[in-house]
Amino acid sequence: MSLVVHQNYIHGQYLSNGTGETFEVINPATGQISYLVEVANDEIKQAAIASAKQGFAVWSKMTAMERSRILQKAVALLREQNDVLAAIEVLDTGKPWQEASVVDVVTGADAIEFFAGLAPSIEGNQQPVGDDFYYTRREPLGICAGIGAWNYPLQIACWKAAPALACGNVMVFKPSEETPLGALKLAEIFTQAGVPDGVFNVVQGDGRVGAWLTLHDEIAKVSFTGEVGTGTKVMAAAATTLKEVTMELGGKSPLIIFDDADVDNAISAAMLANFYTQGEICTNGTRVFVQKGIYPRFIQKLVERTQNNIVCGDPMDEATNFGALISQAHQQKVLEYIEQGKSQGATLVAGGHALTPENAPNGYFVAPTIFTDCSDEMSIVKEEIFGPVMSVLTFDDEAEVIARANDTHLGLAAGVFTQDITRAHRVIHQMQAGICWINAYGASPSEMPVGGYKMSGIGRENGSETLKAYTQIKAVYVGMTTLESPF
Ligand code: NAD
Repeated sequence: MSLVVHQNYIHGQYLSNGTGETFEVINPATGQISYLVEVANDEIKQAAIASAKQGFAVWSKMTAMERSRILQKAVALLREQNDVLAAIEVLDTGKPWQEASVVDVVTGADAIEFFAGLAPSIEGNQQPVGDDFYYTRREPLGICAGIGAWNYPLQIACWKAAPALACGNVMVFKPSEETPLGALKLAEIFTQAGVPDGVFNVVQGDGRVGAWLTLHDEIAKVSFTGEVGTGTKVMAAAATTLKEVTMELGGKSPLIIFDDADVDNAISAAMLANFYTQGEICTNGTRVFVQKGIYPRFIQKLVERTQNNIVCGDPMDEATNFGALISQAHQQKVLEYIEQGKSQGATLVAGGHALTPENAPNGYFVAPTIFTDCSDEMSIVKEEIFGPVMSVLTFDDEAEVIARANDTHLGLAAGVFTQDITRAHRVIHQMQAGICWINAYGASPSEMPVGGYKMSGIGRENGSETLKAYTQIKAVYVGMTTLESPF
């Protein structure tokens, strides 16, 4: 049977690259090729930019209210097509249908709804200066590039497109080459909703296509989600033409559990923060610091729940709550980290191996893994694994755990569990992290700004803050009197 070939999406329609050069996309749950995708070659790239310029001329001239109405239609279409889109995300990522059907499309649509609602509220101000005055306008930047990671492909495309388009910009989006389909479906939906041609183009390919976007002199901004190492390259490339950047990068976040915490809730958080989306979430709380008093009870129940409640298998099976890792290479990387954990002296108390579930024997699964007796210097504790590997560490007191939690070059997220309200805020205020939770973990509503401290990123996504990152201020001074001049 011949495979379906997907093309690039340019100017409101699919466009052939003319050469038929494609790459393969693998279903992580089966190891089989799902479909092929045409690579964005020079013709496609040129067409993408020419189209984006035309799109900008139309879109940026519309009133914000008009843009808002069109984007709201896209939101309705996304919700109507939730199940079809969620199934695409499962096919591409290997994550459970149980998650994708209630999270991925929903949170993508929410972001577009949120920014569509805010679009008409974008305003400048005016200030008298004697008899003269000046006023400001918040104007769009122009063509923005979006470059996505593979863990939440459609959601990432929505989170980037939403503020960009709401503010009157256009976007050329490059999804991860491992998960290229969701962004194409989003582009189709935008077109159906009435978004003008060229406002959201999708170019396909690997890092080389990404690098081209970051160097292009007609692109005003790059919003990037991916690894820290790639982020530094993207930022360096963007600097050559002084592009604005938003960087959503990796993390190695602390989850701190004090003796007085509700232990069941804390265990729920630790499991969510390590095993949801089989551990492939940037904000994961992979360094679980447990105060010594609660530690024996915590570990016993944590291991019990991990052994009894995880259902690994075909991600489309409704009972599955733990899916496949994105690729064989990534599975190997995660297994190598597990070996390092063992050889560096951590104690394996759950998982630690690949899984071959009966209904998906060829998928790239790794069992939910828990290490105890971890120390701060171990590679599993220091480095982002991006898989289901939890490191449990113990601590005595607050000052100690704060210092250890912050002892990393990353600063994406942090969580604290305690019943002591003042301690909760005191500790969180000292966390060097951009996304923090108290007695919760992982929730990220569109209203809440997200982004990293330190090497975990620059700028924010979501939240009204983000409007500033997709507009630039023009200040206009207006003379009301005769101009004084020495000449
Ligand atoms: P990656 O850095 O390998 O790739 C991300 C994207 O960048 C892909 O589309 C890739 O093709 C592209 N790319 C690669 N080289 C490039 C270059 N030189 N120039 C421009 N683009 C280039 O990351 P990944 O493996 O796809 O994703 C996993 C990483 O993403 C993890 O580190 C994770 O923490 C991070 N992540 C962060 C967030 C966040 O919001 N902070 C969200 C999701 C994922």
